[in-house]
Amino acid sequence: MAAFVVAIDGVAGSGKSTTAKGVARRLNLFYLDTGAMYRAFTLKYLRHRKADERDIDVGLIEELLSTTAVDLCQEGDEVRVFLDREAVSLAIRTPEVSRFVSQISAIAEVREWMVARQREVAEGKRVVCEGRDIGTVVFPEAQVKIFMDADVKVRAARRLKEMGEKKMDTEMGEVIENLKFRDRYDSQRAHSPLKRAADAIVIDTTNITIDQEIDMVTKIVEKTLQDKRAL
Ligand code: C5P
Repeated sequence: MAAFVVAIDGVAGSGKSTTAKGVARRLNLFYLDTGAMYRAFTLKYLRHRKADERDIDVGLIEELLSTTAVDLCQEGDEVRVFLDREAVSLAIRTPEVSRFVSQISAIAEVREWMVARQREVAEGKRVVCEGRDIGTVVFPEAQVKIFMDADVKVRAARRLKEMGEKKMDTEMGEVIENLKFRDRYDSQRAHSPLKRAADAIVIDTTNITIDQEIDMVTKIVEKTLQDKRAL
């Protein structure tokens, strides 16, 4: 079991990663990026699938899962992602991975594998865990639950800036379409859909800065820690 969990869920590009990273840095918690794990496995699937296969090959997915290792390694402020010991932090952020990740993440076998691995990574640690099903499925007992939302145009502009910084070539229209597609797909899937936990605090980040986001969540976590100590 994890020692302490801050669960941050929300729509794509709502600022979950930046907030989770900032809070983890300020409070010295382990940052667990579950989206990066789904992306890493999607990358593996794309490398192995038959080029002419249009449908998702569930048999191939099961076969690949049985030989997959996904690791997250915290180095200073950054978390490096490893797929079968290969560093893939940049390779998992390409538009192609973004295009396929929601379909791969909707498959029950993939979710079961990921949830087990996420609990294993968090074992005994104090974590900020970010994703879509953290407060509802992965850590329903999390001490703090946040749900982040924001206007899709604002989210797309932020994502575009981030991709430009990583020298990835994309257009605004393509980014907006991908965010909308993933939100819809992630919310409508049968297994652990993107959903706000009943006890989550909602933060709309449309009109606030990253520093304000980090401040707000840090204060909520600090208050929870103080209350816990007072018990
Ligand atoms: O967080 P990020 O946008 O990198 O996540 C990529 C995709 O991984 C999401 O659109 C979603 O399909 C999937 N995901 C998920 N459950 C999580 C985290 C991510 O299904 N806990």
